[in-house]
Amino acid sequence: MEQIDTLVIGAGQGGVATSEHLTSHGINHVVLERGRIAERWRSERWDSLVANGPAWHDRFPGMTFTCDEDAFAGKESVAKYFEDYARMISAPVRTGVAVEEVTPHTGRAGFLVRTSAGTFDARNVVCATGPFQKPAIPPVIPETAAVTQIHSTAYRNPQTLPEGAVLVIGGGSSGSQIAAELNEAGRRVYLSVGPHERPPRRYRGRDNVWWLGVLGIWNMDTPAPGTEHVTIAVSGAHGGRTVDFRRLAGRGVSLLGMTRAYENGVLHIAGDLKTNLDAGDAGYLSLLEAADAFADCNGLDLPPEPDAWDIPDDPACVSDPVRALDLAGHGISTVIWATGFRFDYNWLNADTLDETGRPIHQRGVSEVPGLYFVGLPWQSRRGSSFIWGYGTTQSSLPIRSLSSGIIWHTTRAGCDVFRSSSLSRGQAGTRSRLPDPARDGRRVAGVPDKGSPRTQHRGA
Ligand SMILES: Cc1cc2nc3c(=O)[nH]c(=O)nc-3n(C[C@H](O)[C@H](O)[C@H](O)COP(=O)(O)OP(=O)(O)OC[C@H]3O[C@@H](n4cnc5c(N)ncnc54)[C@H](O)[C@@H]3O)c2cc1C
Repeated sequence: MEQIDTLVIGAGQGGVATSEHLTSHGINHVVLERGRIAERWRSERWDSLVANGPAWHDRFPGMTFTCDEDAFAGKESVAKYFEDYARMISAPVRTGVAVEEVTPHTGRAGFLVRTSAGTFDARNVVCATGPFQKPAIPPVIPETAAVTQIHSTAYRNPQTLPEGAVLVIGGGSSGSQIAAELNEAGRRVYLSVGPHERPPRRYRGRDNVWWLGVLGIWNMDTPAPGTEHVTIAVSGAHGGRTVDFRRLAGRGVSLLGMTRAYENGVLHIAGDLKTNLDAGDAGYLSLLEAADAFADCNGLDLPPEPDAWDIPDDPACVSDPVRALDLAGHGISTVIWATGFRFDYNWLNADTLDETGRPIHQRGVSEVPGLYFVGLPWQSRRGSSFIWGYGTTQSSLPIRSLSSGIIWHTTRAGCDVFRSSSLSRGQAGTRSRLPDPARDGRRVAGVPDKGSPRTQHRGA
């Protein structure tokens, strides 16, 4: 049996970031990955997927992407980025090793970890198996129905689907992007849209992620009431465009409300389409409003963008919504469930999950001594499960507890990304007028304090 101080499960962005923090604190560890580094980016995403944020933002502080920093990196580039990063930090990753069972010792600290490549005796275990572990498909359409049903993780491209129309269920980032791609490929597409947020891709010359940063939204530490489970429709496809369901309808996609039930080949659709779109618009407009207020208040010289406030008229599918959809009658051969994910800790023999299977934890520290989680949605803040969130502070939180006495490794590098990459790019006038907390006598979320350490760019 191999003895190890800390065993990290999963080598996605979470496992790689955790390894860097453990190494920086001199903690002996190993990262076990059942597939390859960043496996989900390789084999559980569709072919044309690009990162949701531009390359200057969706990265770790310690390394840049090789592509243009305003570009949205393709999924293979993202996977390669994490592979390169793991190599750069000499992360002790063992690929092709699946963790099959984690059991706390009785009467002493630590865990017995059974894997596909032998057993480990680990003092600490960090679960980095991701925020999106197992495809969730609501039990609406029976498997016996005469239609092909797949989850968005199994979708690759339009050519691999059976001939015929496609119903995409889910109006988040995956559903909206897959529906758009199928529509562009000439497919007849139906898109079932539930409650969602659809922030502007860009506004007044700045990307959405920049606004999320300066407005302090990435760093929110509790979800806004009612937004805990609201999906976000955002896309980096085609260089990044705002997801706009009404415009999608204008290009021929038939919008539907929430898919509720199935009976004899007919889907029953809720009458909530307009409510869902209106709520999405309200969120969109409120972000524009907050952005304007921020720009005004801080004297930022950003070009006004009045067109961004235009909301197209309701298309017919919204004003006269379909409430019953006969699948065969509309030639629908495929249903793609873009309905999200659930947790799957079936290898964990520790009493630390709630009745829904979610880990019980405080900022990643579980109730079982020595057991930690990283990268959970809203683990410590909104950005926790995103590349950006790992690159800033969240993955350091458990480490403080892993080794008491170690100073919390608070990197301010994320803020420096804003300063060094975004604000300096051809916008010197703007940069010089950035809010200065020292001058203004207050802290502006997402904008660096004076004297914060600079990002260390180690190159790709
Ligand atoms: C379609 C889609 C697009 C996204 N795009 C972005 C984006 O552009 N930017 C962004 O910041 N976030 C994005 N996200 C969200 C999130 O950042 C990703 O899901 C990311 O992959 C999470 O990284 P992670 O390391 O926490 O988990 P994962 O990438 O899920 O990594 C977990 C790893 O654990 C391994 N594993 C699981 N169980 C075991 C086991 N028992 N033994 C050994 N290994 C195991 C898996 O193989 C996997 O490699 C996206 C999510 C989705 C679904």
